[in-house]
Amino acid sequence: MPVDWATAGDETVGLLQTLIRFDTTNPPGNELPLAEHIVKLLVGEGIETRLLVPAPNRAAVVARLKGNGSRRPVMLLAHMDVVGVERDKWSCDPFGGVVRDGYLYGRGAIDDKGMLAANLMTLLLLKRAVVDLGEELARDVVLVATPDEETGGARGMAWLVGEHRDLLDAEFAINEGGRTRIIAEGKRYMAIQTAEKIAHMVAVTARGPAGHAAIPLEGNAIFRLGRALWRLADHNEPVTLTPTTRRFFGELAGIWPEPDEASAMAALTSDDSAAAEKGASILSKTPVFNAVMRNGISATGIAGGIAGNVIPAQAEAMLNVRTIPGQDIEGLVERLRARIGDPDVTVTIVAQGDEAAASDSDSPMFRAIAESARTLDPHIAVVPYLSTGVTDSARLRRMGIDAYGILPFPMVQSDEERMHGHDERVPIESLHFGTRLIFESVRRIAIAGTSED
Ligand SMILES: [Zn+2]
Repeated sequence: MPVDWATAGDETVGLLQTLIRFDTTNPPGNELPLAEHIVKLLVGEGIETRLLVPAPNRAAVVARLKGNGSRRPVMLLAHMDVVGVERDKWSCDPFGGVVRDGYLYGRGAIDDKGMLAANLMTLLLLKRAVVDLGEELARDVVLVATPDEETGGARGMAWLVGEHRDLLDAEFAINEGGRTRIIAEGKRYMAIQTAEKIAHMVAVTARGPAGHAAIPLEGNAIFRLGRALWRLADHNEPVTLTPTTRRFFGELAGIWPEPDEASAMAALTSDDSAAAEKGASILSKTPVFNAVMRNGISATGIAGGIAGNVIPAQAEAMLNVRTIPGQDIEGLVERLRARIGDPDVTVTIVAQGDEAAASDSDSPMFRAIAESARTLDPHIAVVPYLSTGVTDSARLRRMGIDAYGILPFPMVQSDEERMHGHDERVPIESLHFGTRLIFESVRRIAIAGTSED
Protein backbone atom coordinates (compact mmCIF):
# COMPACT_ATOMS: atom_id res chain seq x y z
CA MET A 1 0.00 0.00 0.00
CA PRO A 2 1.39 3.40 -0.87
CA VAL A 3 2.07 5.65 2.10
CA ASP A 4 0.11 8.88 2.39
CA TRP A 5 3.12 11.15 2.85
CA ALA A 6 1.16 14.31 3.58
CA THR A 7 -0.39 12.69 6.65
CA ALA A 8 2.80 10.85 7.59
CA GLY A 9 4.73 14.11 7.29
CA ASP A 10 2.46 15.89 9.75
CA GLU A 11 2.69 12.93 12.08
CA THR A 12 6.52 13.08 11.95
CA VAL A 13 6.52 16.78 12.83
CA GLY A 14 4.25 16.12 15.81
CA LEU A 15 6.39 13.18 16.88
CA LEU A 16 9.63 15.18 16.73
CA GLN A 17 8.02 18.01 18.72
CA THR A 18 7.11 15.51 21.42
CA LEU A 19 10.63 14.00 21.48
CA ILE A 20 12.17 17.48 21.84
CA ARG A 21 9.84 18.37 24.74
CA PHE A 22 11.44 15.65 26.88
CA ASP A 23 14.54 17.36 28.28
CA THR A 24 17.25 14.71 27.92
CA THR A 25 20.23 17.01 28.40
CA ASN A 26 23.25 14.82 29.14
CA PRO A 27 24.59 15.06 31.77
CA PRO A 28 22.48 13.87 33.49
CA GLY A 29 20.49 12.42 30.55
CA ASN A 30 17.29 11.36 32.34
CA GLU A 31 16.19 9.47 29.22
CA LEU A 32 13.81 7.13 31.10
CA PRO A 33 10.58 9.20 30.66
CA LEU A 34 11.25 9.59 26.94
CA ALA A 35 12.07 5.88 26.62
CA GLU A 36 8.81 5.00 28.39
CA HIS A 37 6.91 7.26 26.00
CA ILE A 38 8.47 5.52 22.99
CA VAL A 39 7.68 2.07 24.42
CA LYS A 40 4.04 3.09 24.96
CA LEU A 41 3.78 4.44 21.42
CA LEU A 42 5.22 1.31 19.79
CA VAL A 43 3.47 -1.24 22.00
CA GLY A 44 0.22 0.63 21.31
CA GLU A 45 0.72 -0.16 17.62
CA GLY A 46 1.44 -3.80 18.32
CA ILE A 47 5.24 -3.68 17.93
CA GLU A 48 7.37 -5.89 20.20
CA THR A 49 9.38 -3.45 22.33
CA ARG A 50 11.77 -3.76 25.28
CA LEU A 51 12.74 -1.16 27.84
CA LEU A 52 16.27 -1.70 29.20
CA VAL A 53 17.51 0.19 32.23
CA PRO A 54 21.31 0.52 32.62
CA ALA A 55 21.15 2.96 35.59
CA PRO A 56 18.54 4.91 37.58
CA ASN A 57 16.53 7.18 35.28
CA ARG A 58 18.51 6.04 32.24
CA ALA A 59 17.02 3.71 29.62
CA ALA A 60 17.41 2.22 26.16
CA VAL A 61 14.66 0.98 23.86
CA VAL A 62 14.92 -1.98 21.49
CA ALA A 63 11.88 -2.57 19.27
CA ARG A 64 11.56 -5.30 16.68
CA LEU A 65 9.35 -5.72 13.66
CA LYS A 66 9.63 -9.42 12.86
CA GLY A 67 10.68 -10.68 9.47
CA ASN A 68 10.65 -14.25 8.21
CA GLY A 69 14.31 -14.70 9.16
CA SER A 70 15.58 -15.43 5.66
CA ARG A 71 17.96 -12.50 6.06
CA ARG A 72 19.75 -11.01 9.04
CA PRO A 73 18.19 -7.95 10.70
CA VAL A 74 18.65 -4.31 9.79
CA MET A 75 19.09 -1.87 12.70
CA LEU A 76 17.90 1.72 12.91
CA LEU A 77 19.96 3.44 15.59
CA ALA A 78 19.55 6.88 17.18
CA HIS A 79 20.38 8.36 20.56
CA MET A 80 17.85 10.00 22.86
CA ASP A 81 20.18 12.26 24.86
CA VAL A 82 21.19 15.76 23.77
CA VAL A 83 23.93 18.23 24.67
CA GLY A 84 23.20 21.19 26.96
CA VAL A 85 21.95 24.62 25.89
CA GLU A 86 22.75 28.23 26.70
CA ARG A 87 19.11 29.30 26.97
CA ASP A 88 19.75 33.04 26.68
CA LYS A 89 21.37 32.53 23.24
CA TRP A 90 18.23 30.89 21.80
CA SER A 91 15.44 32.85 20.12
CA CYS A 92 12.87 30.32 21.39
CA ASP A 93 12.45 27.61 24.03
CA PRO A 94 15.02 24.90 23.14
CA PHE A 95 12.67 22.27 24.58
CA GLY A 96 9.45 23.74 23.16
CA GLY A 97 9.39 22.08 19.74
CA VAL A 98 8.59 25.43 18.12
CA VAL A 99 7.61 25.51 14.42
CA ARG A 100 8.47 28.82 12.77
CA ASP A 101 9.02 29.91 9.15
CA GLY A 102 9.26 26.37 7.82
CA TYR A 103 11.65 25.12 10.50
CA LEU A 104 11.22 22.99 13.58
CA TYR A 105 13.43 24.37 16.35
CA GLY A 106 14.76 22.51 19.36
CA ARG A 107 17.75 20.86 20.97
CA GLY A 108 18.16 17.55 19.21
CA ALA A 109 16.26 18.59 16.05
CA ILE A 110 19.25 17.42 13.98
CA ASP A 111 21.29 15.61 16.67
CA ASP A 112 19.75 13.12 17.03
CA LYS A 113 16.01 13.32 17.74
CA GLY A 114 15.29 14.14 14.10
CA MET A 115 16.63 10.74 13.09
CA LEU A 116 14.92 9.12 16.05
CA ALA A 117 11.60 10.54 14.78
CA ALA A 118 12.32 9.39 11.22
CA ASN A 119 13.30 5.92 12.48
CA LEU A 120 10.13 5.66 14.59
CA MET A 121 7.95 6.73 11.64
CA THR A 122 9.69 4.17 9.45
CA LEU A 123 8.87 1.41 11.92
CA LEU A 124 5.26 2.58 12.33
CA LEU A 125 4.73 2.85 8.57
CA LEU A 126 6.28 -0.55 7.90
CA LYS A 127 3.91 -2.01 10.47
CA ARG A 128 0.82 -0.24 9.15
CA ALA A 129 1.44 -0.24 5.41
CA VAL A 130 3.34 -3.52 5.02
CA VAL A 131 3.09 -6.04 7.87
CA ASP A 132 -0.55 -5.36 8.82
CA LEU A 133 -1.54 -5.80 5.18
CA GLY A 134 -0.08 -9.27 5.07
CA GLU A 135 3.20 -8.53 3.31
CA GLU A 136 6.24 -10.31 4.69
CA LEU A 137 9.56 -8.79 5.72
CA ALA A 138 12.65 -10.77 4.76
CA ARG A 139 14.49 -9.58 7.85
CA ASP A 140 13.73 -8.12 11.26
CA VAL A 141 13.76 -4.33 11.41
CA VAL A 142 15.22 -3.40 14.80
CA LEU A 143 14.89 0.08 16.23
CA VAL A 144 17.46 0.94 18.89
CA ALA A 145 17.21 4.18 20.88
CA THR A 146 20.16 4.70 23.22
CA PRO A 147 20.90 6.94 26.19
CA ASP A 148 24.27 8.50 27.00
CA GLU A 149 25.75 8.93 23.52
CA GLU A 150 26.93 12.49 24.06
CA THR A 151 29.22 11.62 26.97
CA GLY A 152 30.76 8.50 25.48
CA GLY A 153 28.11 5.78 25.76
CA ALA A 154 29.28 3.95 28.90
CA ARG A 155 25.61 3.81 30.00
CA GLY A 156 24.40 3.60 26.42
CA MET A 157 25.78 1.65 23.49
CA ALA A 158 28.79 0.27 25.41
CA TRP A 159 26.42 -1.08 28.07
CA LEU A 160 24.06 -2.54 25.46
CA VAL A 161 26.92 -4.28 23.66
CA GLY A 162 28.15 -5.70 26.97
CA GLU A 163 24.78 -6.79 28.43
CA HIS A 164 22.42 -7.35 25.51
CA ARG A 165 24.58 -8.13 22.53
CA ASP A 166 22.06 -10.74 21.33
CA LEU A 167 19.47 -7.99 20.76
CA LEU A 168 21.88 -6.13 18.50
CA ASP A 169 22.49 -8.86 15.94
CA ALA A 170 22.23 -7.26 12.49
CA GLU A 171 23.75 -7.37 9.05
CA PHE A 172 23.36 -3.63 8.52
CA ALA A 173 22.76 -0.55 10.64
CA ILE A 174 21.80 3.04 9.88
CA ASN A 175 23.06 5.60 12.38
CA GLU A 176 23.97 9.29 12.59
CA GLY A 177 27.34 10.50 11.31
CA GLY A 178 26.99 11.57 7.67
CA ARG A 179 25.44 14.60 6.02
CA THR A 180 23.14 15.70 3.22
CA ARG A 181 24.47 19.06 2.15
CA ILE A 182 22.83 21.68 -0.03
CA ILE A 183 25.88 23.24 -1.69
CA ALA A 184 24.23 25.47 -4.26
CA GLU A 185 20.82 26.03 -5.82
CA GLY A 186 19.55 22.57 -6.74
CA LYS A 187 22.91 20.90 -6.00
CA ARG A 188 23.07 18.45 -3.16
CA TYR A 189 25.32 15.68 -2.03
CA MET A 190 24.77 12.95 0.48
CA ALA A 191 27.82 11.72 2.37
CA ILE A 192 27.28 8.27 3.86
CA GLN A 193 29.78 7.59 6.61
CA THR A 194 31.31 4.14 6.08
CA ALA A 195 34.40 4.60 8.27
CA GLU A 196 35.69 6.92 10.92
CA LYS A 197 39.03 8.14 12.13
CA ILE A 198 40.28 6.59 15.35
CA ALA A 199 40.85 8.88 18.36
CA HIS A 200 43.85 8.54 20.67
CA MET A 201 45.34 10.65 23.45
CA VAL A 202 49.09 11.16 23.42
CA ALA A 203 51.15 12.87 26.17
CA VAL A 204 54.30 14.88 25.45
CA THR A 205 56.29 15.10 28.67
CA ALA A 206 59.42 17.19 29.17
CA ARG A 207 61.70 16.67 32.17
CA GLY A 208 64.46 18.86 33.55
CA PRO A 209 66.23 19.95 36.72
CA ALA A 210 64.00 21.42 39.43
CA GLY A 211 65.10 24.36 41.54
CA HIS A 212 64.56 27.88 42.81
CA ALA A 213 63.45 30.27 40.08
CA ALA A 214 66.11 32.74 41.25
CA ILE A 215 68.80 30.56 39.67
CA PRO A 216 67.91 29.91 36.02
CA LEU A 217 68.75 26.35 34.98
CA GLU A 218 69.61 24.96 31.61
CA GLY A 219 67.15 22.27 30.51
CA ASN A 220 64.13 23.95 32.17
CA ALA A 221 61.27 21.51 31.55
CA ILE A 222 58.80 24.19 30.46
CA PHE A 223 61.19 25.69 27.90
CA ARG A 224 61.98 22.17 26.74
CA LEU A 225 58.28 21.39 26.29
CA GLY A 226 57.82 24.68 24.43
CA ARG A 227 60.59 23.75 22.00
CA ALA A 228 59.09 20.30 21.46
CA LEU A 229 55.62 21.71 20.76
CA TRP A 230 57.04 24.33 18.42
CA ARG A 231 58.56 21.48 16.38
CA LEU A 232 55.27 19.58 16.34
CA ALA A 233 53.28 22.67 15.32
CA ASP A 234 54.39 22.41 11.70
CA HIS A 235 54.60 18.63 11.51
CA ASN A 236 52.25 17.27 8.85
CA GLU A 237 51.47 13.61 8.49
CA PRO A 238 51.62 12.31 4.91
CA VAL A 239 48.48 12.27 2.74
CA THR A 240 46.83 8.84 2.94
CA LEU A 241 43.83 8.10 0.77
CA THR A 242 41.65 5.11 1.65
CA PRO A 243 39.21 3.58 -0.87
CA THR A 244 36.51 5.63 0.92
CA THR A 245 38.25 9.01 0.62
CA ARG A 246 39.34 8.25 -2.94
CA ARG A 247 35.69 7.76 -3.95
CA PHE A 248 34.59 10.72 -1.81
CA PHE A 249 36.85 13.20 -3.60
CA GLY A 250 36.53 11.51 -7.00
CA GLU A 251 32.73 11.74 -7.06
CA LEU A 252 32.48 15.08 -5.32
CA ALA A 253 34.73 16.57 -8.03
CA GLY A 254 31.83 16.23 -10.47
CA ILE A 255 29.47 18.51 -8.56
CA TRP A 256 31.69 20.72 -6.43
CA PRO A 257 30.80 24.39 -7.15
CA GLU A 258 34.22 25.93 -6.43
CA PRO A 259 36.25 25.31 -9.64
CA ASP A 260 39.77 25.27 -8.10
CA GLU A 261 38.74 22.79 -5.43
CA ALA A 262 36.79 20.69 -7.96
CA SER A 263 39.85 20.29 -10.20
CA ALA A 264 42.05 19.64 -7.15
CA MET A 265 39.68 16.79 -6.16
CA ALA A 266 39.88 15.32 -9.66
CA ALA A 267 43.69 15.67 -9.67
CA LEU A 268 44.04 14.13 -6.20
CA THR A 269 42.31 10.94 -7.33
CA SER A 270 44.02 10.74 -10.74
CA ASP A 271 46.93 8.39 -11.60
CA ASP A 272 49.26 11.34 -12.20
CA SER A 273 51.27 11.52 -8.97
CA ALA A 274 52.54 15.08 -9.54
CA ALA A 275 48.99 16.32 -10.17
CA ALA A 276 47.74 14.37 -7.14
CA GLU A 277 50.35 16.04 -4.95
CA LYS A 278 49.33 19.48 -6.22
CA GLY A 279 45.66 18.64 -5.68
CA ALA A 280 46.41 17.54 -2.11
CA SER A 281 48.20 20.78 -1.32
CA ILE A 282 45.23 22.85 -2.56
CA LEU A 283 42.69 20.76 -0.61
CA SER A 284 44.87 20.82 2.52
CA LYS A 285 44.01 24.50 2.90
CA THR A 286 40.40 23.53 3.78
CA PRO A 287 40.62 22.15 7.36
CA VAL A 288 37.94 19.47 6.95
CA PHE A 289 39.45 18.14 3.70
CA ASN A 290 42.89 18.23 5.28
CA ALA A 291 41.53 16.20 8.20
CA VAL A 292 40.15 13.39 6.04
CA MET A 293 43.37 13.10 4.00
CA ARG A 294 45.84 12.53 6.82
CA ASN A 295 46.33 11.64 10.48
CA GLY A 296 45.53 14.74 12.55
CA ILE A 297 47.31 16.06 15.62
CA SER A 298 45.68 18.72 17.82
CA ALA A 299 47.21 19.99 21.06
CA THR A 300 44.35 20.17 23.58
CA GLY A 301 45.91 20.69 27.01
CA ILE A 302 49.01 21.76 28.86
CA ALA A 303 50.05 21.34 32.47
CA GLY A 304 53.13 22.09 34.56
CA GLY A 305 54.44 24.20 37.39
CA ILE A 306 53.67 24.31 41.10
CA ALA A 307 54.53 27.84 42.25
CA GLY A 308 55.62 31.14 40.80
CA ASN A 309 59.15 30.83 42.18
CA VAL A 310 59.81 27.13 41.51
CA ILE A 311 61.26 25.57 38.37
CA PRO A 312 59.22 22.34 38.00
CA ALA A 313 60.83 19.03 37.16
CA GLN A 314 58.18 18.22 34.57
CA ALA A 315 55.77 19.82 32.11
CA GLU A 316 53.27 18.03 29.93
CA ALA A 317 51.05 18.65 26.92
CA MET A 318 48.17 16.48 25.73
CA LEU A 319 47.59 15.78 22.06
CA ASN A 320 44.35 14.50 20.57
CA VAL A 321 45.51 12.35 17.67
CA ARG A 322 43.15 10.99 15.03
CA THR A 323 44.45 8.28 12.74
CA ILE A 324 43.14 7.18 9.36
CA PRO A 325 41.87 3.56 9.59
CA GLY A 326 44.74 1.15 9.00
CA GLN A 327 47.40 3.65 10.10
CA ASP A 328 49.67 2.60 12.93
CA ILE A 329 49.57 4.87 16.00
CA GLU A 330 52.95 3.51 17.20
CA GLY A 331 54.52 4.54 13.90
CA LEU A 332 53.01 8.01 14.21
CA VAL A 333 54.35 8.42 17.77
CA GLU A 334 57.80 7.34 16.48
CA ARG A 335 57.63 10.14 13.89
CA LEU A 336 56.72 12.66 16.60
CA ARG A 337 59.69 11.53 18.72
CA ALA A 338 62.01 11.91 15.76
CA ARG A 339 60.62 15.35 14.99
CA ILE A 340 61.13 16.52 18.59
CA GLY A 341 64.61 14.96 18.72
CA ASP A 342 65.12 15.48 22.46
CA PRO A 343 65.85 12.49 24.74
CA ASP A 344 64.44 14.40 27.73
CA VAL A 345 61.04 14.69 26.09
CA THR A 346 58.97 11.52 26.00
CA VAL A 347 55.95 10.87 23.80
CA THR A 348 53.54 8.22 25.12
CA ILE A 349 50.12 6.92 24.17
CA VAL A 350 47.82 7.38 27.17
CA ALA A 351 44.58 6.22 25.56
CA GLN A 352 44.50 4.18 22.38
CA GLY A 353 41.41 3.98 20.19
CA ASP A 354 40.28 0.73 18.58
CA GLU A 355 40.43 0.01 14.88
CA ALA A 356 37.20 -0.78 13.07
CA ALA A 357 37.03 -2.02 9.49
CA ALA A 358 35.19 0.24 7.03
CA SER A 359 31.64 -0.73 6.10
CA ASP A 360 31.22 -2.02 2.55
CA SER A 361 30.38 0.92 0.28
CA ASP A 362 28.93 -1.40 -2.35
CA SER A 363 26.63 -3.44 -0.10
CA PRO A 364 22.86 -3.82 -0.71
CA MET A 365 22.31 -1.38 2.19
CA PHE A 366 24.60 1.30 0.76
CA ARG A 367 22.94 0.86 -2.63
CA ALA A 368 19.45 0.99 -1.09
CA ILE A 369 20.26 4.32 0.59
CA ALA A 370 21.83 5.72 -2.59
CA GLU A 371 18.95 4.60 -4.81
CA SER A 372 16.37 5.93 -2.36
CA ALA A 373 18.15 9.29 -2.31
CA ARG A 374 18.13 9.41 -6.11
CA THR A 375 14.43 8.58 -6.18
CA LEU A 376 13.81 11.67 -4.05
CA ASP A 377 16.35 13.85 -5.89
CA PRO A 378 17.57 12.52 -9.26
CA HIS A 379 20.53 14.95 -9.25
CA ILE A 380 21.90 14.18 -5.80
CA ALA A 381 25.48 12.88 -5.60
CA VAL A 382 25.94 10.06 -3.11
CA VAL A 383 29.44 9.48 -1.77
CA PRO A 384 30.99 7.29 0.92
CA TYR A 385 32.60 9.30 3.68
CA LEU A 386 35.35 8.89 6.26
CA SER A 387 34.26 10.96 9.23
CA THR A 388 36.72 12.79 11.46
CA GLY A 389 34.37 12.42 14.45
CA VAL A 390 33.66 9.28 16.43
CA THR A 391 30.19 7.67 16.64
CA ASP A 392 28.66 4.48 18.03
CA SER A 393 29.01 2.99 14.55
CA ALA A 394 32.63 2.05 15.33
CA ARG A 395 31.32 -0.26 18.07
CA LEU A 396 28.89 -1.84 15.61
CA ARG A 397 31.57 -2.27 12.94
CA ARG A 398 33.77 -4.07 15.47
CA MET A 399 30.85 -6.49 15.96
CA GLY A 400 30.85 -7.21 12.23
CA ILE A 401 27.83 -5.03 11.42
CA ASP A 402 28.09 -2.85 8.31
CA ALA A 403 27.01 0.50 9.79
CA TYR A 404 26.21 3.56 7.71
CA GLY A 405 26.22 7.07 9.13
CA ILE A 406 23.79 9.49 7.56
CA LEU A 407 22.13 12.80 8.35
CA PRO A 408 19.22 12.42 5.96
CA PHE A 409 17.97 16.01 6.20
CA PRO A 410 19.25 18.21 3.34
CA MET A 411 20.71 21.36 4.88
CA VAL A 412 22.91 24.28 4.04
CA GLN A 413 26.19 24.41 5.95
CA SER A 414 25.05 27.17 8.31
CA ASP A 415 22.04 25.11 9.46
CA GLU A 416 24.21 22.02 9.90
CA GLU A 417 26.61 24.05 12.06
CA ARG A 418 23.82 24.70 14.57
CA MET A 419 24.35 21.13 15.76
CA HIS A 420 25.47 21.46 19.41
CA GLY A 421 25.00 25.26 18.94
CA HIS A 422 22.20 27.76 19.39
CA ASP A 423 18.80 27.70 17.64
CA GLU A 424 19.32 24.15 16.37
CA ARG A 425 16.64 23.50 13.77
CA VAL A 426 15.58 21.25 10.92
CA PRO A 427 13.79 22.52 7.81
CA ILE A 428 10.36 20.83 7.82
CA GLU A 429 10.76 19.94 4.15
CA SER A 430 14.10 18.27 4.94
CA LEU A 431 12.55 16.34 7.82
CA HIS A 432 10.06 14.91 5.31
CA PHE A 433 12.87 14.12 2.85
CA GLY A 434 14.84 12.30 5.58
CA THR A 435 11.87 10.31 6.81
CA ARG A 436 11.03 9.16 3.30
CA LEU A 437 14.69 8.35 2.67
CA ILE A 438 14.99 6.07 5.70
CA PHE A 439 11.60 4.43 5.07
CA GLU A 440 12.44 3.85 1.40
CA SER A 441 15.96 2.50 2.19
CA VAL A 442 14.64 0.06 4.78
CA ARG A 443 11.71 -0.98 2.59
CA ARG A 444 14.13 -1.83 -0.22
CA ILE A 445 16.47 -3.85 1.99
CA ALA A 446 13.73 -5.55 4.02
CA ILE A 447 11.16 -6.35 1.33
CA ALA A 448 12.55 -6.10 -2.18
CA GLY A 449 15.59 -8.15 -1.18
CA THR A 450 13.46 -11.24 -0.62
CA SER A 451 13.37 -12.19 -4.29
CA GLU A 452 17.18 -12.01 -4.63
CA ASP A 453 17.64 -15.54 -3.24
ZN1 LIG B 1 24.53 12.73 17.88
